[in-house]
Amino acid sequence: MTIGWCFDNTYSRLPEAFKENINPIPVKKPELIILNNDLAEKLNLNFSNLNDKEISELFAGNSLPPKSNSIAQAYAGHQFGHFTMLGDGRAVLIGEHLSKKKERYDIQFKGSGKTAFSRNGDGRAALGPMLREYIISEAMHNLAIPTTRSLAVVKTGEDVIRETSLPGAVLTRIASSHIRVGTFQYIAARQRKDELETLLDYVIHRHYPSIKNSKNRPLELLNIVLEKQINLVVNWMRVGFIHGVMNTDNMSISGETIDYGPCAFMNTYDPKTVFSSIDKMGRYAYCNQPIITKWNLSRFAECLIPLIDKNQEKAIQLATEIINSFEKKYEEKWLNMMRDKLGLFGTDEKDKFLILDLLTWMHQKKVDYTNTFCQLMNEKFKEDKNYEDQDFLNWKKRWNERLKTNNNTPEKYIKLMKTVNPLVVPRNHKVEEALEAAEKGNLKPVNLLLEILKKPYTKQKNIFDYQVPSPFNEEYQTFCGT
Ligand code: AMP
Ligand code: MG
Repeated sequence: MTIGWCFDNTYSRLPEAFKENINPIPVKKPELIILNNDLAEKLNLNFSNLNDKEISELFAGNSLPPKSNSIAQAYAGHQFGHFTMLGDGRAVLIGEHLSKKKERYDIQFKGSGKTAFSRNGDGRAALGPMLREYIISEAMHNLAIPTTRSLAVVKTGEDVIRETSLPGAVLTRIASSHIRVGTFQYIAARQRKDELETLLDYVIHRHYPSIKNSKNRPLELLNIVLEKQINLVVNWMRVGFIHGVMNTDNMSISGETIDYGPCAFMNTYDPKTVFSSIDKMGRYAYCNQPIITKWNLSRFAECLIPLIDKNQEKAIQLATEIINSFEKKYEEKWLNMMRDKLGLFGTDEKDKFLILDLLTWMHQKKVDYTNTFCQLMNEKFKEDKNYEDQDFLNWKKRWNERLKTNNNTPEKYIKLMKTVNPLVVPRNHKVEEALEAAEKGNLKPVNLLLEILKKPYTKQKNIFDYQVPSPFNEEYQTFCGT
């Protein structure tokens, strides 16, 4: 039986400027750490006929599948607000695989060695951060949030030097594409309209064929990406996800969460929560995520100006109108998401106050974000005196009054709540614990964590340990791991 690869590498057929042709640099002693069989099945790939050595060689990039065509993609990006020319400095796209349903997936090796875009980096990645991306991206997928996914992690048998020497690894990342706002910025910066048009055509054909006959395709693309990104960030806010490095090169045109560097989940509700050690100013704090999304979309809009209208002023005016629709659309989607979290059907003009008052109470009382919604669903994770607080009880009375206007049974509203309020998220300390063990060669905690995170909306045996908020909430820091 064959593996089932079905490559059709459209991106590698784009003009030279878009990429560098380069193979992954072979590694010394590849060793398979984890393989995602569920995802392999979804991709219609079957590795069961390969032995461990063959699988390791494959996912390390030492032996490339037939008909793959390995490239590093060029892109630029605003990193913490500053524009830089970037590109895949430690990753290669080995090709686009088609599933039996003809769904197209990028297969990317991250940590695969130096490319033309490596600048001063070594092109490599460490085991901890690659496994971290595996765990959190899969958790996001199971939380029903659009995301890139992780097919495998292999150890390279080589060390990488960071603050200390760490075991090297390669992650196989699966994405509906790796085209970013930064990809448009890279091509726009070259100031060649023909290349920009090529990219626009490519993206519409690949991701948004429904707008191919629109009167103004770049404008329609801006609109559709804005919608996608609002949906995404509303989802992040829903589960308390903090991306941590929302640079324009880490914002996907397809609307998937991409790049799990310093991301983490909020425990205690505090809108200003930041975990990333390099985010000193809190640019990418929890509450800033929608604002930054709009900022990034504005950078995207700037790239499209030359294509929107020959008259630059008119083009700017048209794009600005779309960008300015952000707040209203975001607020509406956010409100509806919060209504779902509270089991509220229909709308009431006072809903916003009801929601904000709960959040304010959570902030003041320093209670756990995820577990507060569990409490409201009667999925108490443990007795907690905070929920006997008079202010909370008063708020609950108002909530109950509002629920009565639902004209729905408790079963119905609880059912709604259970579809959007996870019982479990990847708690930072559990992720760290699992990674530490993995680095010492014990993969059991990683596998247990992955198992629990497969069904975040379902009550499971042994879930309690994974619901306990982090004991080191305030001090927790994440690192880019580059
Ligand atoms: P990231 O912070 O992962 O979004 O990466 C930002 C940029 O730095 C991208 O162009 C990466 O390819 C590049 N980069 C990150 N780590 C390395 C590394 N170890 N070697 C070379 N390039 C890197
Ligand atoms: Mg990145």
